[in-house]
Amino acid sequence: MNSLSRQDDGTYIVKSISTHSESSAEQSSTSEETFDTVILAAPYQFTGIDISPAPKHTPDKIPYVHLHVTLFASPHVLSPTAFGLAPDAHAPQVILTTLAPDESYGSSPQGVGRAGFFSISTLGGGLNPGPAVKDRPEYFYKIFSPMRVNATFLAKILGIPPPAAGAEGEELSKDDVSWVYRKLWHSYPYEYPRVTFEEIRLDKDLWYTSGIESFISTMETSALMGMNIAKLVTDEWASEKNKGEKAEDVEPVKVQPEDRYEKVQMAEKGQKPIKAKL
Ligand SMILES: Cc1cc2nc3c(=O)[nH]c(=O)nc-3n(C[C@H](O)[C@H](O)[C@H](O)COP(=O)(O)OP(=O)(O)OC[C@H]3O[C@@H](n4cnc5c(N)ncnc54)[C@H](O)[C@@H]3O)c2cc1C
Repeated sequence: MNSLSRQDDGTYIVKSISTHSESSAEQSSTSEETFDTVILAAPYQFTGIDISPAPKHTPDKIPYVHLHVTLFASPHVLSPTAFGLAPDAHAPQVILTTLAPDESYGSSPQGVGRAGFFSISTLGGGLNPGPAVKDRPEYFYKIFSPMRVNATFLAKILGIPPPAAGAEGEELSKDDVSWVYRKLWHSYPYEYPRVTFEEIRLDKDLWYTSGIESFISTMETSALMGMNIAKLVTDEWASEKNKGEKAEDVEPVKVQPEDRYEKVQMAEKGQKPIKAKL
């Protein structure tokens, strides 16, 4: 979606431009559709959507953590000595870091500490299909870090010689790292104290699910936002329909039952609701 324009009758025109690459020539096509209600289900700051006129409420910019994810394949196992273990020990499959007792960074985004990474996971293994090293057994790894990890870091954790001085920016040889993929994610928000939360309705008939991401970013909470907004939209449609018809003529809106979880008595489990004071 590229733009959203509200009409005098309250409907929205949604305009989308798609770009296709037809062999060498790039072609684009534009489509326009009219909707009574629009639900924006992506963080507004990344959508590039032009809303006109500006909605009554424009979502705040969410301060996302910049998380570097590095996926790579290597014939080498993780070096135990790189993680302070004895040379004959095995490095764990998942390595998570925390701050050393003498480290304190407050809420600084650079607060990863001396370790320089949040986690290194061994995802599994497989046989390299490339002709040069056909069927060589390799391990697949994933690193989460606040900064891009370079070849020197990869060499250290694999226990192989670092790249020559001046070549730190380059990748390691394919003999040591046969495949590497780097991706920078806006993964989740910095959790600042707050007493107000994002609006879920940006304007009449314009709803927003991603406001939850300024508080927490998980699939479950985003799915709940979707469910709640769907309920609010259908409730509003039903009440508008009710105004024009006798109550008995109106077919009730069907909502999927949500009581699928086994209910437990919290008191029996020794848990009490949290009492928080803001
Ligand atoms: C690295 C990482 C790790 C995570 N780990 C976990 C985890 O372990 N557990 C967990 O529960 N959650 C995790 N999350 C969070 C989870 O991915 C999100 O909470 C969830 O994807 C939000 O779903 P959503 O549908 O609201 O938005 P999104 O998944 O962000 O989907 C928005 C969609 O809108 C599309 N879009 C954007 N702009 C436009 C436009 N202009 N027109 C049309 N389409 C547009 C995007 O391409 C995207 O497909 C993780 C996120 C990241 C980045």
